[in-house]
Amino acid sequence: MNLPEAFSLQMQQILGDAYPAFVESLSMPAPTTIRLNSRKPLATPLAAGEPVLWHPQAYYLAERPVFTLDPAFHAGAYYVQEASSMFVAEAIKQVADTTQPLKVMDLCAAPGGKSTLLASLLNQDSLLVANEVIKSRVGVLKENLEKWGYPNYIVSNHDPEEMVDLEGFFDVVLTDAPCSGEGLFRKDPQAMNEWSENSVQLCCARQRRILQAAAMLVAQNGILCYSTCTYNEKENEANAQWLTQVADFEPIKLNIPAEWGVTERKYGYQFFPHKTKGEGFYLAVFRKTKGEKQESRGKIKLNRLPQKKAETLKEWLKEPARFEYYEKPDGQIVAIPAGLTHHYATVFRALQKRSSGLEIGQFKGNDFIPSHGLALSTAIATDLPAVELSKEDALRFLKKENLTVSLADQPKGWLLARYEGLNLGFMKVIGDRINNYLPKEWRIRMEIPE
Ligand code: SAM
Repeated sequence: MNLPEAFSLQMQQILGDAYPAFVESLSMPAPTTIRLNSRKPLATPLAAGEPVLWHPQAYYLAERPVFTLDPAFHAGAYYVQEASSMFVAEAIKQVADTTQPLKVMDLCAAPGGKSTLLASLLNQDSLLVANEVIKSRVGVLKENLEKWGYPNYIVSNHDPEEMVDLEGFFDVVLTDAPCSGEGLFRKDPQAMNEWSENSVQLCCARQRRILQAAAMLVAQNGILCYSTCTYNEKENEANAQWLTQVADFEPIKLNIPAEWGVTERKYGYQFFPHKTKGEGFYLAVFRKTKGEKQESRGKIKLNRLPQKKAETLKEWLKEPARFEYYEKPDGQIVAIPAGLTHHYATVFRALQKRSSGLEIGQFKGNDFIPSHGLALSTAIATDLPAVELSKEDALRFLKKENLTVSLADQPKGWLLARYEGLNLGFMKVIGDRINNYLPKEWRIRMEIPE
């Protein structure tokens, strides 16, 4: 690998005698890792290699399959995620009580790897706000969260500096900042082509802007996690130090077994590929020592669904009484956890460009048309009519092609397409015809080998 000269010098300074081992690790293939969705158990595990030491639901794969051809991947049973970055979950478990209701902000969230990681940590009384400033990246973030199935989330599309009305609101804020990407050189050669000392400077300044906004969002005693996928001291330790100087944050020391190979720095923790099985990654965790704690207040400014109509939704949800149902101006019904409506109201007031929570469908007259989001949500009822598809038919469903399964024996009306017990989406059986309700833009586009 032809490393930029200034980068080599910098790494020699950081690593000293370990530099040759670092360079050698860059010539090895990047491992492929998946993290399982504990709320959507996989019936047939993928051919697994070793476990990821710092995440109990994650493991390395012996080889990289074509994920597009695995229906369980589309059902949200696992997420393909670089191993080092999963360390965020371990850090949060050590510093926050995840058995309690938490309000969590993932400030730089697309495509959603860490949002799904956070969602798996949170209980059913918590709220996750996943924000992405670049509009074109919001779609993939929504898709990944929808697949993951955790119902208590809002996706927003704001510059962190626009979030002043949420000052002191969150118990945990994750800032997985855009960075110079030095830790990704082996996985993504483009990151190396784009690297320059100038881009490091620009990243550093941008990170400070984002961190300052992030710091404001954290409640007193709350947690701020700052992560990057770079080794650069200017972006990592220097920014961590800067944060403790400009705002009331103290770094938190984590408890990390030596065999994990994580390198402890003054403020944060660094992953190097010659010491840990994963890509380059940095994480620092802080507690806010002083500041505001914003209490939630107000009501959701959407029409509450009349009781009679809400009653008809009962059959669609596992625990219908856990939610309140509201109708958006476009007719979509959102299910909002009953105990969290004041939190949702606060976020709705503060952020204009955002989703309204879990959309479960809409009424056409008295008929309810369930949404794809409901099919994939863990809030869906488990006893709805469903048909178990073979792998071939599951892929046909995901391609929006005709199925070979006989539908003559199926009940008329809404029918869930399932693969190994995992919901893939809704179909509707009408006479001898079947309509596939998978969103067009989500369909598999690649040719499926015979
Ligand atoms: N957390 C994501 C995950 O785990 O899948 C990866 C996030 S990536 C490292 C950084 C994100 O920050 C990108 O999605 C990028 O669009 C976003 N970003 C870029 N400029 C930003 C800014 N000025 N403020 C906030 N986010 C920004």
